[in-house]
Amino acid sequence: SIPATVGADLLVPLADGRVTDYANFDHGASAPCLESVRAAVEAALPSYASVHRGNGYASRITTQWYERARKQVHEFVGAREDDQVIFTRQTTDALNLLARAVPANATVIVFESEHHAALLPWPTERTIRLAAPTSPTNAVTSVADALRQAPEGPRLVVVTGASNVTGEIFPIAELAAVARAHGARICLDAAQLAPHRPVDIAELDVDWVALSGHKLYAPYGAGALIGRADWLNEADPYLYGGGATASVSTDATVWNDGPARHEGGSPNVIGAIALAAACAAIAKHRDAIEQHERSLLARLRTGLAQLPGVTTYSIFGEDADRVGTVCFTVDNVSSTLVSAALSAEYGIGVRDGKFCAHPLVGRLLEDSPENGTAVRASLGLGTTREHVDRLVAAVRTLATSGPRTQYEESAHGCQP
Ligand code: PMP
Repeated sequence: SIPATVGADLLVPLADGRVTDYANFDHGASAPCLESVRAAVEAALPSYASVHRGNGYASRITTQWYERARKQVHEFVGAREDDQVIFTRQTTDALNLLARAVPANATVIVFESEHHAALLPWPTERTIRLAAPTSPTNAVTSVADALRQAPEGPRLVVVTGASNVTGEIFPIAELAAVARAHGARICLDAAQLAPHRPVDIAELDVDWVALSGHKLYAPYGAGALIGRADWLNEADPYLYGGGATASVSTDATVWNDGPARHEGGSPNVIGAIALAAACAAIAKHRDAIEQHERSLLARLRTGLAQLPGVTTYSIFGEDADRVGTVCFTVDNVSSTLVSAALSAEYGIGVRDGKFCAHPLVGRLLEDSPENGTAVRASLGLGTTREHVDRLVAAVRTLATSGPRTQYEESAHGCQP
C-alpha cells in the first residue's frame, strides 16, 4: 500500500459550474502533505518549546524531537556516520549554503540543464557550465573532460538526480565515480529524485545531498543539506546570530562546528519533524510508491504518444529511466492556455512555463513552434488511473478542437 495524502478528496469548481475531484499533476512543484506527517505535527503542537535553549520539560523534549528528526533524515539518505544534516528552508537554501562553503579556489562544474537553484548559486568566475547532456554516457564524458581541463585546486560537480522538466534520471553513481577519479567532490540535487527513488549517499558515493520537504509530502519551510562537514566547518556561518556561536566576548566570536554553525536563530522544529515523518513514511513504502508511479507514468506516456499535435520532450531520449514527470506542448495552443483550460474545464492542475530551468527548456524547445514554454505534468502518490485518463482525454480534445473559452494569460512564478 502507499501512504495516504491529506486533501485527496479535494473538490474543485469548473468553468461550467460543475465540481470535480482535483487531479493534481503538479507534484514536481510541491506535493500534498501525508496523513502521517499531519499526525506527527499534531502530536508535537501541544508541547513544543524552544530547541537547544530552555531547560524546561517542553524544551527538552522538543530538542529531542529536533535531533531525532536530524537522525531520521540522515538515515533516509543512507548517510555515512560522520555526515552531518543541516536543516535549511528548502533545496535552494541548502545549495546556497553549500555555495558559501565552497573554498575560494574551487572550480564548480554544473550542467546548463539544472534547475536554477543548482545552476546559479556558484561564483560565476569559477564555474564551468556544461551544455545539457545528450545521453547518460555523454553526461559522464563531459564531466570527465571538464574535470581534466579544470584548474588545479578543489573541484565540485553539482548535478540533479532527476530533471525537474522531464523527470529523467541522471547517472549519479557514474558521475560520482568520475568525480572521485579526478579527486573532485559531487553534490546531488535530490529535490526531484528523493520523493520517487531511494537516495543512498554512501552507495552512490556522493559528498552532499540537498532536498526539500515540500516535494517529499511535508509542508513548506524545511529542507536539508546532508553530507561532509569539513568545508562547512571551515566556512563562515550562513546566518550570524544565536545558536551559531560557541562563545562571544567584547572582541572575539568563536563559532560552533557542526550543524549549529549554519542553523543560526530559532530553528523550524515543526518543519523538521514534518520532513522527518515524511522521510520515514516514504522509505517504508518505497517499492509500492515506485510501482504505483511507474505504472501510471507508462499509461500517461503511452496515452500522450498517441495524440496527434502533441510533442513530448526528453533530454536523453524516450528510453531514459525517469520519475513521473512529462513535459509536452500542444501544436497551436499556447502552454499557458493548455494549463488554464485543463484547470477550468477538467479540474486538472499542471504547470506551464520554463520551470526555473530556462537554458534546458530553451534547448528542448529549439525547434518547437510554441513560444518557448511547455506544460509539465508530474504525478505522485494521490494520482489515479482516472486522473491519467482524464488528462490524456483532455489533451486530446485541446489538441483537436482547442479550448472552449479564451483565458487570460497569467504570469506564473518562475516565468520571465
Ligand atoms: N532542484 C530541483 C531539481 C527542483 O525541481 C527544485 C524545485 N522545483 C529545486 C531544486 C528547488 O527547490 P525549492 O524550491 O524547494 O528550493
